[in-house]
Amino acid sequence: MKKILITGAAGFLGSHLCDRFVKEGFYVIGMDNLITGDLRNIEHLFKLKNFEFYNHDVSKFVHVPGKLDYILHFASPASPIDYLKIPIQTLKVGSLGTHNLLGLAKEKKARILIASTSEVYGDPLVHPQSEEYYGNVNTIGPRGVYDEAKRFQESITMAYHTYHGLETRIVRIFNTYGPRMRLNDGRVVPAFIGQSLRGEDLTIFGDGLQTRSFCYVDDQVEGIYRLLFSDYVYPINIGNPDEITIKDFAEEIINLTETDQKVIYKPLPTDDPLQRQPDITKAKEILGWEPKVDRYEGMKLTLDYFKRFSQEELQKSEHRDFS
Ligand code: UDP
Repeated sequence: MKKILITGAAGFLGSHLCDRFVKEGFYVIGMDNLITGDLRNIEHLFKLKNFEFYNHDVSKFVHVPGKLDYILHFASPASPIDYLKIPIQTLKVGSLGTHNLLGLAKEKKARILIASTSEVYGDPLVHPQSEEYYGNVNTIGPRGVYDEAKRFQESITMAYHTYHGLETRIVRIFNTYGPRMRLNDGRVVPAFIGQSLRGEDLTIFGDGLQTRSFCYVDDQVEGIYRLLFSDYVYPINIGNPDEITIKDFAEEIINLTETDQKVIYKPLPTDDPLQRQPDITKAKEILGWEPKVDRYEGMKLTLDYFKRFSQEELQKSEHRDFS
């Protein structure tokens, strides 16, 4: 049985990856320090023979006994509000954490896939963003702690590949959504759905003309799975190119939830990218991958998940913003 370590296992993407690899017959070790992760996302896996969980911070030395075939490094805060709250941990998990996991991969002769992000493109001056674009990042802005940690992560990963011959893969993940996002992580999908379900107005930051392109989690997981087993060592974009303004997205959520909420406008956070859309030519050509789930279908599945929360839980998770 092939053995895989998944860091950030109790988080949104990490938990879906655990599900996928368990289903594919791997022995999965999930690791998380639970700063932003939630054990409820993986509690259904604890009874399985091919799953175990380590509560550990990967910024500290990582030890896994026995053999290891693959590592997926998905541990990191992933929302702008979280980076503001825990900037040092965000920097450490992307830099020191990645270094530790690369060291572990080298020791075990394991293949390692690193979760990078569209944030490496910063507030992009090129549209859509292809992997060749070097980005436009403010190193000292509020997002800098995440963006620069992820850029460093890509550099050190390539260095381990070229210098040590390590088998490495780098995925640049664009906005991804679905069940198990944290209701109060501040990201726009849970924010708008949470506000609708609580009967609050939807808060649009800025004029709402900034764009994002949302990828359903199952599509994202499929792209990552294909990348891990491909031969491609350079960064590759995985995301859904279907671009929408945040204003139109708010309308879609209001229609979907069949509520009559209004939208209200708040100031645009510093360095909030004005437009974002992945160029997925490489993913199509190299991995034979493209997204299958359209936004209406994916948002409906996501809404169904959040509808299962009780009113009490919904009220507890009040909207977080930058003010
Ligand atoms: N956003 C918004 N209202 C909210 C939360 C987010 O208008 O309550 C905006 C945010 O300013 C950004 C977009 O939605 O322009 C996506 O935000 P998110 O935090 O989900 O991701 P990111 O900015 O990292 O793409």
